[in-house]
Amino acid sequence: MKYVWIAFGIAVFTFAAVIIGLQKGSPTAPNEDGRIQIAATIYPLYDMVREVAGEYADVNLIVPPGASPHFFEFSPRQLQDLQTADTLFEIGHGIDRWASRLEAIAPTVQRVILDKGIVLRNEASHEEETENNANDADEDTSGIDPHYWLHFGNARVMVSTIAERLAAIDPIHAPSYRENAARYQDRLSEKEQEMISLLASVRGKEILTLHDAWYYFSDNLGLVVAGTFEPAAGGEPTPRYLANLRAKIKEYGISVLFSEPQLATPSLSAFAQDERLRLGILDPIGGVEGRMTFMELMEYNARSILAAFSAL
Ligand SMILES: [Zn+2]
Repeated sequence: MKYVWIAFGIAVFTFAAVIIGLQKGSPTAPNEDGRIQIAATIYPLYDMVREVAGEYADVNLIVPPGASPHFFEFSPRQLQDLQTADTLFEIGHGIDRWASRLEAIAPTVQRVILDKGIVLRNEASHEEETENNANDADEDTSGIDPHYWLHFGNARVMVSTIAERLAAIDPIHAPSYRENAARYQDRLSEKEQEMISLLASVRGKEILTLHDAWYYFSDNLGLVVAGTFEPAAGGEPTPRYLANLRAKIKEYGISVLFSEPQLATPSLSAFAQDERLRLGILDPIGGVEGRMTFMELMEYNARSILAAFSAL
């Protein structure tokens, strides 16, 4: 039944899109105020684009705060809103693969993956995962770890890519985009130094995380991800996987485990209790009170790590 409605929605929407397209002429024309129309798949990208664009763009966020990009689908309404977008910024490498649905419906929207110039990591291999029960159907198979935005250095590179893209589609305001980007990059550098200092006392410490989103972050701020509770995002660990994880906890003397707001699972809390691990929260997305900007999000996560170790 759900699929009938989805099919119906797409049909209605396609019809509406044709009508709108006929009325508007070019689907990439700026709106009445002359602002360019930009969309971003996840909240951190959305925030970076807002910083660079300033007053010259309308920025549309796709994945609502609280949802995980790993398990997301467009609503018909969102697809409709995206018809007039000039550019959609994406992370790529599987995490927002649903964005490709846009191609059939809004072929004029330029999709820009923000990994240009970034040193990408391979996905952590979970050799223990031999039983292969993990629900990794939604994960990319390219073997690249897509969580590269959780790194100040990578964010600075992404900001340059965003600025060049905005400058290309709106050359009149190009100097402004580049200035905004440069200023934002300086602030990112300052915050990065501040966070590295903040975490000096826990430098090199091992942490466990819910899913494998935190390797770039840990590289950046001097921590070590020793393992993940889930072998893949949303994949329940098998008993054998957990037995291996327990062995690792003993071997390294690991004391902290971090859940995530978007993918929290009761079995993780139970595991933390059984293993006497201090439970903290790391948020890869943000967009909620206290984490309304990318910089606030990074600071929240750094402080969360410090707090978990300080409480021991
Ligand atoms: Zn993830």
